[in-house]
Amino acid sequence: MYQPIIGLEIHSELKTRTKMFCSCRNDTMEHIPNLNICPICLGHPGTLPVINKEAVRKVIKTGLALNCKIAECSRFARKNYFYPDLPKGYQISQYEEPFCQNGFLETGGKKIRIRRVHLEEDTGSLIHEKDHSLVDFNRAGIPLMELVTEPDLNSPTEAKEFAQELQLILRHLEVSEANMERGELRVEANISLQQQMTDELGIKVEIKNLNSFQAVEKSLEYEIGRQTKILRSGKKVIQETRGWDDIQRETVSQREKEEAHDYRYFPEPDLPPLQISQELIDGIKTEIPELPRQRRERFKKEYNLSSREVEIFIRKRDFGDYFEKVISELEQWAKEIKPKLNKERFLSLIKLCLNYILTDLQGLLKGAQVSNEDFLITPENFAEFITLIYKGKISSKLAKIILFEMFSTGEDPSNIIEKKRLVQMTDEAEIEKLIKDVIAKNEKAVLDYKLGKGNAFQFLIGQVMAAVQGKANPGIVNKILKKLLS
Ligand code: ADP
Ligand code: ZN
Ligand code: MG
Repeated sequence: MYQPIIGLEIHSELKTRTKMFCSCRNDTMEHIPNLNICPICLGHPGTLPVINKEAVRKVIKTGLALNCKIAECSRFARKNYFYPDLPKGYQISQYEEPFCQNGFLETGGKKIRIRRVHLEEDTGSLIHEKDHSLVDFNRAGIPLMELVTEPDLNSPTEAKEFAQELQLILRHLEVSEANMERGELRVEANISLQQQMTDELGIKVEIKNLNSFQAVEKSLEYEIGRQTKILRSGKKVIQETRGWDDIQRETVSQREKEEAHDYRYFPEPDLPPLQISQELIDGIKTEIPELPRQRRERFKKEYNLSSREVEIFIRKRDFGDYFEKVISELEQWAKEIKPKLNKERFLSLIKLCLNYILTDLQGLLKGAQVSNEDFLITPENFAEFITLIYKGKISSKLAKIILFEMFSTGEDPSNIIEKKRLVQMTDEAEIEKLIKDVIAKNEKAVLDYKLGKGNAFQFLIGQVMAAVQGKANPGIVNKILKKLLS
């Protein structure tokens, strides 16, 4: 039996205003090729790089969030190789003195050690046409953060979940959009199989071209199968880089692994070593928000949410923030009303609020963010809306109409109710009068009902609800109609 040993190398493009070593805009969505370029990111002779402070801060912020030790002195290095998307003939990266080392990230109840997090620059992109290739340097020089784990992952699912958790953290830290489809998060997976009962690691293969979390998982599953076969037949795995083919669902050999000395790493002579002060680190620490792991626990404990519900708020962080603001408004309200809500009742109010946020509001948003400027419902208004439902002032049917109106105009719910005269009918005598009208107009249905035809009653309820324009409580309508028909 073999145990899979997996280590990940993950690159993410940092969200900064400008590129890593020049003042060109860092805009990964730019569609016009070679627009954000200058002599520095094109590697013209005589130009000098200048370090982007914002990028350095973001790498340190990530390192701190991942429990890393931050270097007191860090340095850039040249990694030399030739490729058409690399105009200088070397990439400015880090080698012996990365910004962050020896951290860990806990996923699935397991601590995965992080060897290092360093900063480098991205390359340009190649566009291959039929008989020639084009180069776009918009991406050249965009700050790129590389994270390397120790080989602590033991299954394809663990590897996928690690990458997903890291994506969430990067988004919470607002250091990267970390979108895999757009190449803002790039995962490379190293895998070997270890003979059980031994300490020795097997020969590893590096998998590239993983464009989704699913590809991470599937390619590792495939490699486990392939390497198991090789080892079972008494052969040796070759150390190499393999590319994942998403269509054929297999890995294909790309090249045999180069060694570090092939890159002739040496300290970058055009940039000074960076001294990182404790003050700088302490300052960055204060900018670290609550991270997914802590937020999950807190949301479960404070609001009694299920794991599934919590996960929605973790993935859509602004939605989670909004939910909390609404809850704090509700808390305020609950303090002031009499009789006071006990804990159990308050939790049921939260539950009501949660349902409206996750179903109705999410439906109206159609994937848009609540942090967008054109989202008009303030937490105060949303909380008021929930209290109106809670108090039985509006039915669930009316609630939908009112919420839609709030969503479109940003008006507060009481105004909408008043303007549209949408108040719930509570006067039973008035409802009874309307029901009598309906009975008089529907002799046939009444007869059907008396003959025991099941859907005649439903039909009559429908007629009454139409007559009251949905403004009466269905329970009361039901009760009165039954009474009048008996
Ligand atoms: P290389 O020198 O080939 O770049 P490194 O030691 O720098 O290898 O590790 C690169 C990545 O591969 C790291 O994420 C590490 O955890 C992982 N790794 C190292 N050895 C193994 C192994 N035997 N099996 C699986 N992954 C490994
Ligand atoms: Zn530039
Ligand atoms: Mg290495």
